[in-house]
Amino acid sequence: MTLVPSDCHIFAFSADAPPAATVPDGAVVELETADCFAGQAKGAGGALTEVDWERINPATGPVYVEGARPGDVLAVTVERIEVTGDGVMAVSPAFGVLADRIAATAFTAVPIVDGRALLPGGVAWPVRPMVGVLGVTPAGEPVPTGTPGPHGGNLDTRLVGEGATLLLPVFVPGALLAAGDLHALMGDGEVCGTGLEVAGRVRLRLAVRRDLRLEGPVVATADAVAAVASAATLDEAATLATRQMADLLAALAGLDHAAATMLMSAVGELAVCQVVDPLKTARFGMPREALAALEVGPDLRRC
Ligand code: CA
Ligand code: ZN
Repeated sequence: MTLVPSDCHIFAFSADAPPAATVPDGAVVELETADCFAGQAKGAGGALTEVDWERINPATGPVYVEGARPGDVLAVTVERIEVTGDGVMAVSPAFGVLADRIAATAFTAVPIVDGRALLPGGVAWPVRPMVGVLGVTPAGEPVPTGTPGPHGGNLDTRLVGEGATLLLPVFVPGALLAAGDLHALMGDGEVCGTGLEVAGRVRLRLAVRRDLRLEGPVVATADAVAAVASAATLDEAATLATRQMADLLAALAGLDHAAATMLMSAVGELAVCQVVDPLKTARFGMPREALAALEVGPDLRRC
């Protein structure tokens, strides 16, 4: 198994970035990741101005996957997330939904003991690790690792946890995948502007798919398959995610727009992923049972 250390990282997905590792189709890679503050905020109590903004959201990689070509899909299965040490959260008048109620920037160290995070307010909660930044490299201009988009990136979607598969459209040869910004916990919305930010290691199985065309990320979990879309407003992101799911149902199950829309309206799960990154992210999930009834598997293959 290929191990990529956290000092091999990027702050923008760029087609010009030299690969940190080259692996065959089907490989399992383990990426060691720093937290989203690149470790700068650990134990800090000071103002966020002390944080070097050029060093936010490091993503370990990029990993070149042999055989991945533009137009393919890279299936990234999150086999394991290992959280290293305690976590940190932050509030600031500069970010978050309730920024206007926050007097000053503050970091809070959050201990993780026996698999439970000791959260502000005295609430102990079982950790549920997920990957905040997971993406491939878009064609054209580099995209900062803090920005979500069709290439994935900073999706901050809590479904991207252990056992989930994130399907991403490939834009450049080798896909050039990178990941970081692990969260021991994150709620839908990520309203304060951070999850429970942690360093750690993430083990990913990488498989190239040529039987599928995607406009943007799709995440498959034990329960559902969700199209994930990002846009300047939550309204636009919700519409985009809904359209992408309808397109998938048309392509995979042959449903026309009327049937797909009614089915989605009856059993679909339109939800907020995050509202605090430069773009907002929404998802449209369909329960696995509904897809199975359409003879579509959770891997988006006919079954
Ligand atoms: Ca994030
Ligand atoms: Zn984060």
